[in-house]
Amino acid sequence: MNLRPEPLVYELSSPGRTAVALPKSDVPAYSRPSALVRTELRLPELDELTVVRHFTRLSQKNFSIDTHFYPLGSCTMKYNPKVNEAAAANPGWTRTHPLVGEAFSQGALELIYRLQAMLAEIGGFEAVSLQPAAGAHGELAGVFMIRAYHLARGDAKRTKMLIPDSAHGTNPASCTMAGLETVTIPSNAEGGVDMEALKAALGDDVAGIMITNPNTLGLFERNIEEIARLVHEAGGLVYGDGANMNAVTGVFKPGEAGIDVMHFNLHKTFSTPHGGGGPGAGMVGAGKLLADFLPGPIAVKRGEAYALATPSKSIGRMKAFYGNFGVLVRAYVYVRMLGAAGLRRVAENAVLNANYLKARLEKAYPVKYPRRCMHEFVAMGNLAEGVHTLDVAKRLIDYGIHPPTIYFPLIVPEALMVEPTETEDKEALDEFAEAMLKIAEEARTNPVLLHNAPVTTPIGRLDEVAAARCPVLCYRG
Ligand SMILES: *Cc1c(COP(=O)(O)O)cnc(C)c1O
Repeated sequence: MNLRPEPLVYELSSPGRTAVALPKSDVPAYSRPSALVRTELRLPELDELTVVRHFTRLSQKNFSIDTHFYPLGSCTMKYNPKVNEAAAANPGWTRTHPLVGEAFSQGALELIYRLQAMLAEIGGFEAVSLQPAAGAHGELAGVFMIRAYHLARGDAKRTKMLIPDSAHGTNPASCTMAGLETVTIPSNAEGGVDMEALKAALGDDVAGIMITNPNTLGLFERNIEEIARLVHEAGGLVYGDGANMNAVTGVFKPGEAGIDVMHFNLHKTFSTPHGGGGPGAGMVGAGKLLADFLPGPIAVKRGEAYALATPSKSIGRMKAFYGNFGVLVRAYVYVRMLGAAGLRRVAENAVLNANYLKARLEKAYPVKYPRRCMHEFVAMGNLAEGVHTLDVAKRLIDYGIHPPTIYFPLIVPEALMVEPTETEDKEALDEFAEAMLKIAEEARTNPVLLHNAPVTTPIGRLDEVAAARCPVLCYRG
């Protein structure tokens, strides 16, 4: 580890220095059993200002979308308008309790009801449940629903789920958690599903397919309708991974292309800050075949009143109460602020920005599947002998830019997955492109610079496995 000279809080300690002056005690002293008293406790002795500066400095070492360009592929790290935060922080939402009952939750239930309807319209679905707390959680709900559908028809032999080899790792994980077996379908030369391999895998033991569109290569699956038709013909159902909806909102309705159940990541496309494991929402939408199996409760309208109801064949609850409600408020405000035309422009600009960057970079960073991309593209970062994608990513930190996603998807060697999102202007895109091109030049002229990167951060290149497995979380001076 490469520690740079920066004062650590323990090293600033000075004996006797203190941040608080307590009044003289006016109650009798209580003497604790001596066995319970430590005689030595090594804590730093500091004044208040030093402590404030220490923690403020630490907080500023974070990358965030509010401070830096953040082109993390497959994550849609776009700018989240602050009006969403103001709305979610409204005491009318934050001070209500989920146990007050339907009569006192009419506003919250109305918001859920309206958001369900808006998302159903955006996705082309019959009905929507806002229960799941994340994309992966929505996937699990969807696979449970597909399984419940087959079992309800007395068809217990459908135990296999087809998943393209470009899929996000959560797809096979969700499938396995739901008790189904994963069958990997290879990609074709264009980066789409290999149709011959798909046909060969179909049979009466197939529960369905999990498909991502646009896929993780940032490419639109042109055969989506044909894939859905073939899977349905074989008695299976189609799960859509909607994590990449930012590329197609207002342009493509997955429900109309034959997708039976799908999740959207409200914390990606619908503008909730994420990354770092904060609350998310992975709503699931379903078409006619699966609407009755949605997790519940969902919001319904009875006369003038809003109420909760559970779909007739529901797989049950996925989450306590109403899901992650604050995320739902943000999504509601976001959709209402943009309207239908605005949502379409989000997708158009996300695609335009990605294609602009791809055009600026693909000579230096080859793209394995080079056709026009959607909201992201996957380049390769093995620039010169001995220079790898990891080196490029680390060097970008020195230029003040969050690295793109690296080494995913697995089917592209040395993958460098760039998703600029629609919220960046041309200047930000150009700055990123210039940094990337400069790094490509450094790879030729001074590869050692890349191997040593980052050099501007308090801690240099980490052993990432050790950092994850044996993290050092306290000071060991
Ligand atoms: C982010 C993502 C997921 C998982 O979503 P989480 O909310 O992180 O659980 C699934 N599939 C794809 C393609 C993704 O990008």
